Amino acid sequence: MNDKSSNYNNTINTVNDVIKVLNEIPSRFYSLTDHFFHDGAIIGGEGLKKLERRFMIEFSIQFERLFKNKGYYQKSEYDFEIPKKFMFSDNANISIRNTFEKLNSRFSRDVNMLKYFTTEPDFLVHAGQSVTNEESQKLIIEAKLNPNSNKGEIFKDIFHTFIYSNQYNFKCSIMLLVHINEKRWLNTFEEYIDKKYYQGELDNTKKIFVIFKASYEDKALAYNLFDLLSPPICPKCHKKMVKRIAKNGKNAGNIFWGCSLFPKCKETKSVN
Ligand SMILES: [Zn+2]
Repeated sequence: MNDKSSNYNNTINTVNDVIKVLNEIPSRFYSLTDHFFHDGAIIGGEGLKKLERRFMIEFSIQFERLFKNKGYYQKSEYDFEIPKKFMFSDNANISIRNTFEKLNSRFSRDVNMLKYFTTEPDFLVHAGQSVTNEESQKLIIEAKLNPNSNKGEIFKDIFHTFIYSNQYNFKCSIMLLVHINEKRWLNTFEEYIDKKYYQGELDNTKKIFVIFKASYEDKALAYNLFDLLSPPICPKCHKKMVKRIAKNGKNAGNIFWGCSLFPKCKETKSVN
């Protein structure tokens, strides 16, 4: 096995570890006692911020407990709410700067862009803040738990995640979406790409994953961003393929590639 594919396998292990940790978090961390639904709307916006913080502290505890002894995390520190802020630096690669300029022009003049796009990640595993080589930067997570997050908030997370994998060389960057509607998020992501806000290398998106966990009871779903950006082409009709979940039969619950022309075209392809 060459270095590249063993790196990739470690990245997949990390994604699976995050999913295992999500399953270890007790149900009470998935909800707040001081927020409730009224006429279909959530009451208590501040509460949702508290929930995000509480959830990620619990995530951090569970992560450390379960994965302390795994080889691919050794010589690393676990960090949470680190004081360091991440931002692109003066020598940031051109794609990050271009993306920033493009997003900058989208906002009205009274937004402090530097502040808006400076990030304090929700969770990370690394071996030293000043060292940015790939070996020492293991895992970084941007988490969202507020189902009412607006488009700007989602764009911000996407931008930050691209910085982590483009400039700080994180082996695995994850956007963790709890309580967030999958379809709505994917549409927002598509808009981000369509408007050409992301101008980096497609190859860098191989290290970025998005994990959806709709609720405590729901199974977590992970997507690789590279797959979302460059899906396979249907061998039959040459349209894009999309990821689907098998609803019936012995493969129920499994993810596969299906032709976007379904039900006209029934071509499928296995994932991996
Ligand atoms: Zn087809």
